[in-house]
Amino acid sequence: MDVAQPDFCEFRGEKLNFNHYDILFRLNFMLSFYNTLSRSIEEFHPIEDGKVRMYICGPTVWNFAHIGNFRTFVFGDILRRYIKFKGYELTHVMNLTDIDDRIINEAAARNISINEFTEPYAQYFLEDFDALGNERPEIIPRATHHIPEMIDIISTLLENGHAYESDGSIYYRIAAFPEYGKLSKISFSGNITGGSDRIDTDKYDKEDARDFALWKLVGEDEQPGWDAPFGRGRPGWHIECSAMSMKYLGETFDLHAGGQDLQFPHHENEIAQSEGATGKLFAKYWIHSEFLKIDDVTMSKSKGNFFTFRDLTKQGYSPLAIRYLLLSVPYRKQLNFTFEGLQGAESTVERLRNFRSLVKGRNPSGSEGAVSVEGSDAVENVMIALKRFEAAMDDDLNNAAALAAVHDLVREVNIIMAERSLSSDEKDAVLDAIGKFDSVLGIFGTEDSEILDADIEKLIEDRQLARANRDFARSDEIRDELAAKGIILEDTKDGMRWKRR
Ligand code: AMP
Ligand code: ZN
Repeated sequence: MDVAQPDFCEFRGEKLNFNHYDILFRLNFMLSFYNTLSRSIEEFHPIEDGKVRMYICGPTVWNFAHIGNFRTFVFGDILRRYIKFKGYELTHVMNLTDIDDRIINEAAARNISINEFTEPYAQYFLEDFDALGNERPEIIPRATHHIPEMIDIISTLLENGHAYESDGSIYYRIAAFPEYGKLSKISFSGNITGGSDRIDTDKYDKEDARDFALWKLVGEDEQPGWDAPFGRGRPGWHIECSAMSMKYLGETFDLHAGGQDLQFPHHENEIAQSEGATGKLFAKYWIHSEFLKIDDVTMSKSKGNFFTFRDLTKQGYSPLAIRYLLLSVPYRKQLNFTFEGLQGAESTVERLRNFRSLVKGRNPSGSEGAVSVEGSDAVENVMIALKRFEAAMDDDLNNAAALAAVHDLVREVNIIMAERSLSSDEKDAVLDAIGKFDSVLGIFGTEDSEILDADIEKLIEDRQLARANRDFARSDEIRDELAAKGIILEDTKDGMRWKRR
């Protein structure tokens, strides 16, 4: 069916002509993404109007996180920021797993408590997380601070027959949850009760090989251990996320996300525990992001083929470029890490930053050559870029297409600026668009290190004065300060000239 096409869109109350109808008309401005639960792209409708509750599985704080881990967390940050961009009020929870077998073993080897062992890694993680430009989730709970909540869920599961005790440990009874497998779609037919086909290496006796530990028995003096009505022990891995998500977000919440590898068994088990305990849907949408690879092998601690964030910054790479690289590919596609890719990202973020400085520094044209908003090719390009950006992000969070919209705008406005100055409305429109893009992507960086044309002129004047007074130290200092901000000075026969690097 043909749809009548408008010949304008509005900007600040003014009507603008539009040539790119095709782009306008493909937009529905409805966020959709791939729900692992339904294996299809779904429109996002939160349970409560205007409010979103989201849980993203956080790191195990037993070592420095590598940039593969951070691909998942940067994706989580984009998801977070885009939900806010769409106008929702968001509560976002990301846990810190501060107890597991590796942590217990490493702490024991050093003869310190698990808390003493994990605390520095939790801090390092958050430092790296911040340095990568991620916004902090509203709530960052730690597993060991939520043992009573885990005990409550396990007690309920014991009472309603979804869990049983064996050799002092407590197991989840998968036979009591017929929907087991609904997330990962792994078929367990023809399986495996007892017998040799074990898919879990727990050493204790279980009714069914698929059953997993909720609570592991520990001896009276063994650390770490917590008293519970069903005996002293420590929690299994999966129960912590059921406990912390439901505590802060309610029994049913909107969105649960994490890396691809968490789909099974971790998220499948979270569903079994939570829905087994409450009888209600646990999370409405499940999003899983793909791996970062290196030489086509998944980056992982166990394979030893990883770089931490700090490895790369020590080599002089900027956090902004690392972030750019990690978000340059849509989350459902694998990304292969290379140093050429990282160098490319470095020049891209520099170009973006320079573009913003250039637009900022441009003195708005006076009446001569000024372009009103109506009929402005710059503003029209801004409108198109914003619409393309939102359409791309709505379309299963396609950040690669969103970045293409940003880069196209930069190119078009650069072409315009090569010919004429921007009017102050045009300048505002471009800067406003950059602000909107960056509220989601966070790739333009902070503005502290930017310098405006007027400030540069002033510093150059000061430097001339210093030279006239034979204060060469001050003159050199000013030159270095400008150089650090990417400003190159040239002495010409017509006087001092400057340009941006
Ligand atoms: P962990 O600290 O092992 O619990 O992992 C933290 C997060 O990093 C989880 O969501 C994992 O799925 C994710 N992750 C681990 N390795 C990679 C990788 N190579 N690429 C992307 N995400 C990963
Ligand atoms: Zn989890």
